[in-house]
Amino acid sequence: MSAQTQAIVQVDEIEKTFTLPGTFPWSPKTQVHAVRGVSLRVEPGEVVALVGQSGSGKTTLSRIILGLEEPTAGAIHLDGLRWDGLSERQRHPHRLPYQYIPQDAMSALDPQQNALEAVSETLRVLRNMDRDSAVDEARAMLSRLGLENRVDALPREMSGGEQRRVTLARVLALQPRLVVADEPTSGLEPDRRESVLEDLVGNLPEEAGCVLVTHDMGAARRWAHRVLVMLDGRVIEELDLRKNDPVHPYSRMLFDPWAYSVPRGELSSSGCPFSPDCPMGTGEKAAICKESLPDLRELSTVGHRVACHHTFESESDSLLQKGEA
Ligand code: SF4
Repeated sequence: MSAQTQAIVQVDEIEKTFTLPGTFPWSPKTQVHAVRGVSLRVEPGEVVALVGQSGSGKTTLSRIILGLEEPTAGAIHLDGLRWDGLSERQRHPHRLPYQYIPQDAMSALDPQQNALEAVSETLRVLRNMDRDSAVDEARAMLSRLGLENRVDALPREMSGGEQRRVTLARVLALQPRLVVADEPTSGLEPDRRESVLEDLVGNLPEEAGCVLVTHDMGAARRWAHRVLVMLDGRVIEELDLRKNDPVHPYSRMLFDPWAYSVPRGELSSSGCPFSPDCPMGTGEKAAICKESLPDLRELSTVGHRVACHHTFESESDSLLQKGEA
C-alpha cells in the first residue's frame, strides 16, 4: 500500500463510553467503556478484520466507523470527509458508498419478496435505476453469487446460506466503497461459512475496503490483509496473519485454542487487563503487568504492533509453551 494513498477509513483515538441506568431510579449509573483509544486505517482494496471475544468492543467500533454510534471522543474520516459529529441529514448525500451488514441482516428480508425483487428494489430505491436495468443488474449479481436458479425463491424457501447471499447481493449491487460486515457468517453451518466469505470478499469492487468483524480466527487468517485483535475495548495486537504469527498471549490463545486454554474472560481494571488470565505475566514479571497498562507499539523483533510488556523478550515468550497455558 502506498503511504500517499488516501485511506477509505481513518479512525483516530476513538473512545466510546455507554452510561447505563441503575436498577432503580435512585441507583447510581454505570459507565461502560466499550472502546478505548482505538486508531485504524482501511486502505483501498484492503480487508481489515476486527477479532476478539464477545464484549471486546469490535461491534461497537464497527458501528462507530459508519456513524451508527457516535464516539465519545476521537475522529473518523471516510475518504477524507470528517464523519463523526455530522447529523444524519448531513451524512445522507454521502452515505450510499458505505454499507453495513449487521449480524441479523437476514431478518431485514421481506418475507413476501423473492430474491430478485429484494435486490432489484434496493437498486431502484437507492441507485434510482429504472425497473428493467435494476432487474438485469440484480439478476447478474445473484448469478455471481451462485443464485441464478433461486431468483424466484422467497426467504422461507431458502437455506440460511442462500438468505445470507441475498443480503450480500443487495449490498454488493450498490458498488460500495466500503463494507462493514458484522459476523457475516453467524448462524451458518461451518461448511457454508467459507463460501459466504468468499462471495463477500471476492465480489467487492476492486478498490473497495472491508471491515470484517469476526470471532472466527480462521476467517480472519484467510481473508484479512490486516487483523486487529481487541480486548477490553483496546487493540492489543495488529498484524498481517499471512506473514506473521500472533505473539500476544491473548491472541495466541484465540488463534490456537487447541494448544492453549481459552481465556476465561476475567479482566483486570488496573495494569494489563489480561493479567488475571495471562500465563506469561507471572513471578517477577507480574509486577509491571499488574501496575502498568502496556502501550500498543511496534516491536522490531516481531515486525508488528503489540501491547505487552514481555512478548518481545524471547525467554519470557518461551513461558507460553503449548500445554502450559
Ligand atoms: S503485559 Fe503481562 S499480563 Fe499483559 S499480556 Fe503481556 S505478559 Fe501478559
